[in-house]
Amino acid sequence: MLDEKVDLLFEEVVQRNAGEVEFHQAVREVLESLGPVLAKYPEFARAKIIQRICEPESQIIFRVPWTDDRGEVHINRGFRVEFNSALGPYKGGLRFHPSVNLGIVKFLGFEQLFKNALTGMPIGGGKGGADFDPKGRSDDEVMRFCQSFMLEMYRHIGEYTDVPAGDIGVGTRELGYLFGQYKRITNRYESGVLTGKGIDWGGALVRREATGYGAAFFLEQMLKTRKQSLEGMTCLVSGSGNVALYAIEKVHALGGTVIGCSDSDGVVHDPDGIDLDLLREIKEVRRGRILHYAEARKGSQYLPHGSIWQIPCDVALPCATQNELTAKDAAALIKNGCIAVAEGANMPTTPEGVRAFAAAGVLFGPGKAANAGGVATSALEMQQNASRDRWSFEHTEERLSEIMTNIHDICFHTAEEFGAPGDYVKGANIAGFLRVARAMVALGLV
Ligand code: GLU
Repeated sequence: MLDEKVDLLFEEVVQRNAGEVEFHQAVREVLESLGPVLAKYPEFARAKIIQRICEPESQIIFRVPWTDDRGEVHINRGFRVEFNSALGPYKGGLRFHPSVNLGIVKFLGFEQLFKNALTGMPIGGGKGGADFDPKGRSDDEVMRFCQSFMLEMYRHIGEYTDVPAGDIGVGTRELGYLFGQYKRITNRYESGVLTGKGIDWGGALVRREATGYGAAFFLEQMLKTRKQSLEGMTCLVSGSGNVALYAIEKVHALGGTVIGCSDSDGVVHDPDGIDLDLLREIKEVRRGRILHYAEARKGSQYLPHGSIWQIPCDVALPCATQNELTAKDAAALIKNGCIAVAEGANMPTTPEGVRAFAAAGVLFGPGKAANAGGVATSALEMQQNASRDRWSFEHTEERLSEIMTNIHDICFHTAEEFGAPGDYVKGANIAGFLRVARAMVALGLV
């Protein structure tokens, strides 16, 4: 529920940003948490912090022309939304997916801002991408697209300005082509301009694993508050991209068994536990589909178009995409005895799903807290780039684990302080907002 004053502010956001439904959803979720904060700190209303936070500092939209392998011309639309730089340079990934539009990029940028604040690292919030579909494209086509994209984006980014990274459809391959083009245009080997780079050209160990590992660490921390652990638990991980793969790896390392994963075509149910080597081979080396996993793995079952959330489990990690877990899915999870959910993707649970989990007392870690490990490790990559240093895997993973524990604890304690014990959604929204809002007040009206 929104209180009256906040409701008016929300209506204004809806009017100013007509049709951007995912952005409205993300804004509403944060504003729903802020009533008690605005009552406690009247200076935020005086400085119009809410209105300013909901308006990106700048929004760049550009044409991306490129040619496919047959010489045919294609036109895509590129975006970079620089949301807020009160805490540091804009920071956030690029998403290449046919669903990308301004509303999606703004929802992601808005979430990113609070997520980045929760990490405690000096990074502001931004997001970008294009409605380009890399699926089925050759390496050469992807390269030409990335080069054309960077030919516009280079003028907006920089180590101290705006630091993009990967997201859905943008991994090390795409970042390589983007970085190569940036280096060529600017004549600078500016490692800190992008994160998620390959290990041989300025990348950091653990960045690849960080979002998935971090989500598993967050889940473990939530369970700990109820004196439980992942040991012996069955788990569902939706998706089978970078976040899902490394969430599965860490759940297994912490003693749980992942019995299902998915892609946009279907679901695989593997009661013996997902064979991660096989899944990685298919996804990372062959760039294949999980249907191929089910074909190769005895004892597993492929459910075309099925909902993964119908499979009974103890804990769940939605790691695919926004609004993939609906009220109906939440009801099935609750009925089957699921006790905890941590979001590896950005906003994968619908607002109705979140409410159902809260009503049933399911531990629920929202994405802006639970999946912050990726961007936190990006900040560690920036730190290594700035000092021309390279940290070991063990040291970096230790830092990631510490950061996730801190994020968990600040969300947990903030929720208690504001009268909502156990509500990680409120805890994350309030704690993230306070960091950004205080910095904005301190920096004046800029
Ligand atoms: N796209 C990731 C996220 O949603 C990572 C962003 C980054 O590392 O900058 O947080």
